[in-house]
Amino acid sequence: MARRKLIAGNWKMNGGRNSISELRGIAEAARAHVAVDVAIALPATLIGLAAEQVPELPIGAQDVHAVDKGPHTGCISAGMIREAGARFSIVGHSERRCDQHETDAEVRAKAEALHRCGLGAILCVGEQLADRDAGRAEAVVTEQLAGSLPADASGEWLSIAYEPIWAIGTGRTPTVEDVAAMHGAIRARLHELIGDAADGVRLLYGGSVTGDNAGELLAAGDVDGALVGGASLTAAKFAPIIAAG
Ligand code: PGA
Repeated sequence: MARRKLIAGNWKMNGGRNSISELRGIAEAARAHVAVDVAIALPATLIGLAAEQVPELPIGAQDVHAVDKGPHTGCISAGMIREAGARFSIVGHSERRCDQHETDAEVRAKAEALHRCGLGAILCVGEQLADRDAGRAEAVVTEQLAGSLPADASGEWLSIAYEPIWAIGTGRTPTVEDVAAMHGAIRARLHELIGDAADGVRLLYGGSVTGDNAGELLAAGDVDGALVGGASLTAAKFAPIIAAG
């Protein structure tokens, strides 16, 4: 099945009102490569402004709460980000799985909350370096996938991002062969879990993607796009990655 590539940025805890010009630059790069889908996950404080000022660029959040409303101080629901103009959210990023101790079950519930609101999800999975060194990377990642996968995982609303934790923000990446092998393993596990619908789910690679390595990573087997942190913060760095898609 032909899947359109998705190049998604993750600004993490970066950006303010003065970043709108970068988003305009990213939207311009996206316009120049219409065969590729481009999206940016922003801090919640910027979603409304960005959706208003750069409406052609799909804006997302980086996390949502699993329930729709209630006594959860400091949390933001899927309905709230939708009202602010978001079209999707990242869930299960390793920085949240590690820092906030999010479990697979919580990640699954967050993805399901997004789906209930008609929003997209980029669901992250990835192994620690110790798992890779011990030869259990595929087992760890596919188990995480099975535990975090929402009940209705079919359709374009869901993408899976494979992000080896040791590659995030470190400048280190797995080999193209390792990425292709992991994406193949994820696709195979998805087939076991949801049958032919697995062919509709986009598999993104994330972890130290740059303009220099995007071409070969995006050409690897079963790689349908990228989730990009540091190199998505400026249009100058992100545009070559979009162009490589
Ligand atoms: P990085 O981050 O591109 O800065 O390594 C990727 C991510 O955490 O999504």
